[in-house]
Amino acid sequence: MSRILIVEDEEAIAELERDYLEMNDFEVTVRNNGQAGLDEALSSQYDLVVLDLMLPEMDGFEVCKRIREKMNIPILMVSAKKDDIDKVRGLGLGADDYLTKPFSPSELVARVKAHLTRYERLVSAGAAKMENDVVEIRDIRIDKTARRVFIGGEERSFTTKEFDLLTFLAEHPNRVFTKDELFREIWGMESIGDIATVTVHIKKIREKVEENTAKPQYIETIWGVGYRFKI
Ligand code: CA
Repeated sequence: MSRILIVEDEEAIAELERDYLEMNDFEVTVRNNGQAGLDEALSSQYDLVVLDLMLPEMDGFEVCKRIREKMNIPILMVSAKKDDIDKVRGLGLGADDYLTKPFSPSELVARVKAHLTRYERLVSAGAAKMENDVVEIRDIRIDKTARRVFIGGEERSFTTKEFDLLTFLAEHPNRVFTKDELFREIWGMESIGDIATVTVHIKKIREKVEENTAKPQYIETIWGVGYRFKI
């Protein structure tokens, strides 16, 4: 049975969502503020989060971002204002879908089911890849065990950090990372240097993986935010 976490401060809406999801055989937990929702999401195993945007204590933007830092589970964002939904999309916080209130409960159930199916597929694909420790996306094949990279079947040489950065991005496709986040992830907190290093490494990686570095097909620049690996 799939487990769903609802983070919603309006009790009537939370109950309606809970009822419909339970009728469809989901196990449902409700938290009514952002901080409690985040704590719950991080401390237990959920399959999907239904997250309201306007919440007391910590808003949905922050909750979404913090969950994404730790896990890949589907996040369905809910808001009363369409403008806010547009803002969330623009920020690239990593929500998987958006619903504008009011929505019909059956619409919610349909979206939840669709995202769970998609996520299960991704997880089983990921698990299969983990066995031989290879990450393969379109023409790029990264052999993590041997630390070798093949582009269209041809091997290219990468420095340690280039390899780490490419692998990290490829393992988190479609997620936007800021230069700060990438620097911390690959070089570590204690490293001396600055985020310009990230830009330099991205440029070097693109020269090796992209057919046309002016029109990257793999590592995309999200202006004002950072980078993401397109899948
Ligand atoms: Ca609310």
